[in-house]
Amino acid sequence: MKFYANFKMKHTRASTSKYIEDINKELEDVDCANIYIFPPATALQESSKKVVVGAQNGYFENSGAYTGEIGIEQLDEFNIKTILIGHSERREILGESQEFIAKKFNFYKEKNFDIIYCIGEPLEVREQGEDALFEYLFAQFEGIDTSYSNITIAYEPIWAIGTGISATTKDIELVHNKLKSKFSADILYGGSVKVDSIESIKEIESVDGVLVGSASLDAKEFAKLIKKGLIA
Ligand code: PEP
Repeated sequence: MKFYANFKMKHTRASTSKYIEDINKELEDVDCANIYIFPPATALQESSKKVVVGAQNGYFENSGAYTGEIGIEQLDEFNIKTILIGHSERREILGESQEFIAKKFNFYKEKNFDIIYCIGEPLEVREQGEDALFEYLFAQFEGIDTSYSNITIAYEPIWAIGTGISATTKDIELVHNKLKSKFSADILYGGSVKVDSIESIKEIESVDGVLVGSASLDAKEFAKLIKKGLIA
């Protein structure tokens, strides 16, 4: 299992450093790789021991006149080589179009980044049935090279993000099995994953890992979730 923590616009530089220190301590005796955290841009720092640090966002240039953005020059300073692309909050709140997202994807692919590529549907689409669901989800792969060797796909139904209502095993299997039948990439599930739900989620064969928001913010709680997720 792989574990990814998306801090969103939470945590500061100081609290992220403390978090990394704490989680490294919590996981000291745990045989685990593949623990990733995505702090806000102001808290980016070098990866350390058990924890790989990635970026929540990046623009498709090395540097330049792009107010508010960061690019390769800023990421290189901390040896960041992992990035989240296509998160629903950037699609829905920041208005990122599929074309814009594909530009980012192709730029970071050229730079050989590990890309966590997020897709997900709103509730009204899920309620329209399977055909509408897959039409919506597959449109989010337009312009995306799913055979890229460093892509990991994260399926995050929007209705399950931050709501406390995780998708059911059946909901997750429906999408993950379909994605597995088409792509060879690892596939993460994200959407209200908690310490209490990780045990059933890890049993789903087509789930290779989890992308966690709220339940990742406390280092001890996230370490607990990781330990539970690793138990065979
Ligand atoms: C997320 O936004 O990536 C996420 C999965 O958040 P939460 O775990 O809080 O639903």
